Amino acid sequence: MSTLMNTYGTRTLTLTKGEGSRVWDDSGKSYLDAISGIAVCGLGHAHPALTKALSEQAATLLHVSNLYNIPQQQRLADLLIQVSGMEKVFFSNSGAEANEAAIKIARKYGNDRGVKNPSVIVMANSFHGRTLATLSATGNAKVQIGFEPLVEGFIRVPYDDVAAVKSAITEHKNIVAILVEPVQGEGGVRVPAADYLNQLRAIADQHELLLMLDEIQTGNGRTGTYFAYQHNGLLPDVVTTAKGLGNGMPMGACLARGKAAEVLQPGNHGTTFGGNPLACSAGIAVIETLLSSNLIARVKVLGDKLLADFKTALAGNPKVVDIRGKGLMIGIEMNAACPELVQKGRDLGILINVTAVNTIRLLPTFILTDAEADELVSKVVQLVNEF
Ligand SMILES: *Cc1c(COP(=O)(O)O)cnc(C)c1O
Repeated sequence: MSTLMNTYGTRTLTLTKGEGSRVWDDSGKSYLDAISGIAVCGLGHAHPALTKALSEQAATLLHVSNLYNIPQQQRLADLLIQVSGMEKVFFSNSGAEANEAAIKIARKYGNDRGVKNPSVIVMANSFHGRTLATLSATGNAKVQIGFEPLVEGFIRVPYDDVAAVKSAITEHKNIVAILVEPVQGEGGVRVPAADYLNQLRAIADQHELLLMLDEIQTGNGRTGTYFAYQHNGLLPDVVTTAKGLGNGMPMGACLARGKAAEVLQPGNHGTTFGGNPLACSAGIAVIETLLSSNLIARVKVLGDKLLADFKTALAGNPKVVDIRGKGLMIGIEMNAACPELVQKGRDLGILINVTAVNTIRLLPTFILTDAEADELVSKVVQLVNEF
């Protein structure tokens, strides 16, 4: 009997080693990694820059707490500001915690302005995490059932529906923020209309709401720009990120700008581990590597190529409902539930994910070679054609 809580059911695959875009199991079988630890290992496995930064920092100083000045934290914050256009950073240990910081900013922003019961607009099909506030913000009953009472102060509208946001604001006088994913990840790789974020930006400006983007999955180069909002030429008031930021070191960040950047003051928020020297040394290595190797441009090229290749290879397959994506976030929606494709992929030597019941989700590394990209397409096309 396992002594682990049964949160993930029985897991049948044991991975023991990784290098580049490939991982190996305990029997020595290798797999092309098209999930990257759920959009985490954009730089792949055992990247030399990460290994060097982490081993040097581990041999020097792991942790001191936020009672002290941490130069690595300052350096990583400066880099994040440089790549984002935001102004201030709070470091956390996970995505959910980054969103908790964002939700606290929204509430205090509202309370400071005298709004009674300040509320945040959130979207159907969204995913924001598993803590009580973030599961309450999440638009998926499966995440919420059994954990009632939910945290109050969220008003839900359909995703990619600007009119619904406008009517929610007319109806509720206590709205202080909009929290939204630029592309919904867990929700099935949903890409909204090209000007959706621009329209939300205009609404937020008009009503003095905070536009808060959950870029936990879309950030750190995943969609072909450092943050996905950069495709829209705008700035949010708050943006959260995690996953790819540490390439496997658990860490997250909440970035803010303008009035949102001044909301949290000493005593309002904190964390023991967040932004510790080890985690930040990983974050620094990730951003420096992304910038110096021009990898984010490669993400766009690779993503466009994969999408085009899938559309060509799967054209006319009646079981394929839609093929969509942005950068290296790609979804292939099937006409029926397809969870068995995960195991079939393992048999073929590829790790994929199925989300929202019927959507194959691909989140490969940014360092895929052209040959690995072709291997990915041919294996996934085989899985789909045999479905
Ligand atoms: C993964 C994810 C989260 C939660 O991040 P954790 O690190 O698992 O807490 C929140 N929002 C989005 C969009 C995510 O993809």
